[in-house]
Order: sequence, then C-alpha cells, then structure tokens
Amino acid sequence: ESSEQSQLIGLYDQAAELYTHVLLNTEMGQEALTYLHGRGLTDDIITKFQLGFAPGDQLLKEFFAEKKIDYQLLRQSGLFIEDQEGQLRDRFRGRVMYAIKNPQGHVIAFSGRILNKADSQAKYINSPETRIFSKSNVLYNFDVARSAIRHEKRAILFEGFMDVIAAYQSGVTNGIASMGTSFTNEQIYLLQRTTSQLDICYDGDDPGQAAINRALDAFGANSQLKLSVIEIPDKLDPDEYVRQHGAKQFNEIVHSARLTPTAFKLTYLKRNYNLNNEADQLAYIEQALKEVATIDSSVEQDLYLNQLAKEFGVQPQDLSKQLRQVRSQTS
Ligand code: ATP
Ligand code: MN
Ligand code: MN
Ligand code: MN
Repeated sequence: ESSEQSQLIGLYDQAAELYTHVLLNTEMGQEALTYLHGRGLTDDIITKFQLGFAPGDQLLKEFFAEKKIDYQLLRQSGLFIEDQEGQLRDRFRGRVMYAIKNPQGHVIAFSGRILNKADSQAKYINSPETRIFSKSNVLYNFDVARSAIRHEKRAILFEGFMDVIAAYQSGVTNGIASMGTSFTNEQIYLLQRTTSQLDICYDGDDPGQAAINRALDAFGANSQLKLSVIEIPDKLDPDEYVRQHGAKQFNEIVHSARLTPTAFKLTYLKRNYNLNNEADQLAYIEQALKEVATIDSSVEQDLYLNQLAKEFGVQPQDLSKQLRQVRSQTS
C-alpha cells in the first residue's frame, strides 16, 4: 500500500466520522436522523454501519482546511468537485451517507442518497474512481459479513444498501450488495474465496426481477458459484418486506423460499406470453425447453420436463423428444 493510498484512506475515515457525528449529534443532522429512524434504524445500527449526513454547505471543506490537509490530496480524494477557478466544493450535499468499505473495514468511498427527492437530482451519487476505490470491485458489507458467510456457507446478494442493513437487523448477517452495477469477475473472485453458494435477493419490482435474470446469465457463464434466487413477494424491496412483515417472516423466506436458477427462469419467461392461447403455450414451451437444455444434470432436467408436462397436459416423452431436437439445434 502506497503512502498516497493510506493518506486517502485516512481522509475517508475522518470524513465518515464527521458525517456520522453530524447525523447523530447535531441540529444539521436532525431531519436525516428522523428519516432514518422512520425507516426503522436504531442509533446502534447507524453507528455500526457508519451511516452519516452531509449537510448542504461546505462542511467537509472547512473541516479539512482547519486540519491543513494538502490541497493536491484533497483534489485526488474525490470528496470534492473542482470549479473553473480551481475552488473545491463538497461533492456530497444534503445526502444521507453510506460508508463503502474495503474488505479490511476501511472507508474507501461513499454513496450519498438524496434526502428530499427533487426530480432533477439523482437518487444516489457515488464517489468517483480513485486510487483506493473501484466501484466494480466493491462488495458492500463484505468486511462485516465475511465471517457469517463462512459460517452459513453462503452469501446473500441484495440490490440496495438499506436491504443489507435491514437484513442484518433481522439477524440475516451474511448479506452483501454491489453498487448498482452488474456483478464483475473481480467480485466473483473475492466471493469465491469465501463461499461457493450465492443467493440472489433483489427487489421484487420489475427492474429487480430483470436484474436477477441478467445476473443469472452473467454468473452462469463466469463462475463456479452455485446460485439460487430468493424472491420477495408483492414487488417489495427486502427492506420494505422486513418493515411490513417482521424479522421472523423475512428469515423464513430467506431460509426456505429458494428457487433454482431454472425455476426462476421458467417463471420469469412467462411474462412474455399469454398462456391462455395455444400458440403462446407452444412458443413458451419451446423457450422453456431451451432453458432446460442448458442444465447439466439429467435428473434435474427430468424434474422440469415433468413439471412442464403436468402444467400443459402433455406427455413427458414428447417433451423429451423435443428437448433432444432443441439440443441438436443449439450445439
Ligand atoms: P431506497 O430504499 O433508499 O429508496 P434503494 O436501494 O431501494 O433505495 P433502488 O431505486 O431500488 O434504491 O435502486 C437500487 C440500487 O441501484 C441502489 O441501491 C443504488 O446502488 C443503485 N442506484 C439507484 N439509483 C441510482 C442512481 N441514480 N445512480 C446510481 N446508482 C443508483
Ligand atoms: Mn428497485
Ligand atoms: Mn428500497
Ligand atoms: Mn431497492
């Protein structure tokens, strides 16, 4: 680790402490604190995850100015935006701050969520790429979750930071999240050193379901991770589900409602068809068989063939025959 990297990490650790202090102990942080309490977070959890608040002024700039931090270091930190005259301004203003940490538990970046959503502003802004932060390598909460992941022999991948935190509060402590990007080989590599099983638990809304579908394709091609899908009912985010149904029911879903990738795909595919008419039924069956054809295990293939046969009132042998045709076309 170069001295520049450790200096940057030092800045981020100090900034995180300041943002948490503002949130918990100052008038400026009151509205954000009320907002987070309203979302079910306690002060203990806020401290544990180093949540914070960046107010709408030049707080961080003044804080570092008093400490006489080197200007070039501040420029490189990504914590500021530089205007045409070379003046630095706080990058994060009026945002709830999520501290992003490396696997060693040091703060290396922030994601800031807007407190009062106005149309023109992005809901989240992230720190830019720096010497210590590459967005596509980060697994949020991995530093804390790692031991639970080892113990449970599986990790749960959520979409949002708040989902990870709500799960943690419910006793589901092996949760991680990426930062609004698709999963990369670096993240897979990091995870594979700790576990061989990943449960994908994205939002129940349409974008979340589409993201699961994409993730299954990406993982399938790139990793030895064994995948399953945890579906959250009623189009809810995991965090909303916890608030509405409580920790116990969330735990039940997490531990018992796991779908295989194929089971998820076969259901997901249905949204493209009107299964009340035969033409669509046939088209669906053909696509479904293409999905089944990608399965290695013949026992598992049989399982889905039998399910499809039952569902559409056809003979399993006929589906097997068509499956062999599909396979010879695609190989
Ligand atoms: P909240 O519950 O606080 O509204 P969320 O995590 O549920 O937040 P979503 O709208 O479901 O937010 O988005 C899922 C994830 O996508 C976020 O956690 C974030 O990582 C990423 N994301 C969403 N909007 C943006 C944005 N405008 N810029 C960058 N990333 C974003
Ligand atoms: Mn969503
Ligand atoms: Mn949410
Ligand atoms: Mn969400």
